[in-house]
Amino acid sequence: MNTQPNHDERPRILIVDDERININILNTLLKADYKIMAATSGEQAIKAAVDGQPDLILLDILMPGMDGHQVCRKLKSDPATRSIPIIFITAMGDAENETMGFALGAVDYIPKPFNNAVVKARVGVHLRLKRQNDMLESLASMDALTEVPNRRAFEQARTVEWRRCQRDNLPISIIMIDVDQFKQYNDNYGHGAGDECLSRIAKAISGCVHRPGDVLARYGGEEFAAIMSGTHSAGAMQMAQQFHSAVADMKISHEHSKVAPYVTLSIGVATADKLDAVTPEQLLEAADRMLYEAKQSGRNTTRVIEL
Ligand code: GH3
Ligand code: MG
Ligand code: MG
Repeated sequence: MNTQPNHDERPRILIVDDERININILNTLLKADYKIMAATSGEQAIKAAVDGQPDLILLDILMPGMDGHQVCRKLKSDPATRSIPIIFITAMGDAENETMGFALGAVDYIPKPFNNAVVKARVGVHLRLKRQNDMLESLASMDALTEVPNRRAFEQARTVEWRRCQRDNLPISIIMIDVDQFKQYNDNYGHGAGDECLSRIAKAISGCVHRPGDVLARYGGEEFAAIMSGTHSAGAMQMAQQFHSAVADMKISHEHSKVAPYVTLSIGVATADKLDAVTPEQLLEAADRMLYEAKQSGRNTTRVIEL
């Protein structure tokens, strides 16, 4: 049913029901305004929610195998799907099921048999709320000075991407980036110029990051961090090289740097191929260690380690 091209910007709704007739009715009702995905079992629904990141889920309660309540519990316990609103589909007058669903984190109910106007209205309300929540969320995830994701967003992305790579048996790389001799930059040019410099660096290096799932964030002070899913150390090294070049190309004067007449970076890269054998914290520590080594060996360079 997912026949829309990828550039479809309409809100995405995942309909979960073991009876195709119900899916068809809802699809017919909603497909003009929304991009519809469908699942006919709880297991399918969880996979579709993680991979497809819908904006809203319409979830049947009574299904063979995993029922709607179990699906809801699972989705609400996973950071990758926690914020997707769930509306339960339930038989009319099923007060006990309704109360249970709200306790599990559902936002609303749609009673069966469907009333077209009510379904459309409820779906519309919850998609509007979701959009507002997403906006607040993205504001809370952004660093105000540099307008790239902040540390909180980085930690979130790390959790989600780590699990995805673990499931799909992919490597993951973390890149830690620190501006060289930035204290001298501030001391020489003033804090305002320092801020401006950080903004330009953030823009330049975040411009190198294109792949979905990759996140470049301001980690704190004059330090940035990137998470690269499905990326081996060779790819991460290449990315680090692009970061160096992007900043070097701007030729931001730094007369008091002992490293170069321009602003430079030191970078630490750590890659894990077998995610079952390492923790995200260990990978981050390793990248930090490599950054320290890059500093020790004269700055304006990258050090890499494979775990
Ligand atoms: P190193 O090459 O070893 O990294 O030296 P450094 O001077 O860059 O490192 P240090 O940690 O001694 O100093 C970091 C400086 O970054 C000090 C701090 O004032 C500055 N800094 C951190 N955050 C900001 C910011 O938001 N704006 C400005 N202008 N400066 C900042
Ligand atoms: Mg520094
Ligand atoms: Mg630092």
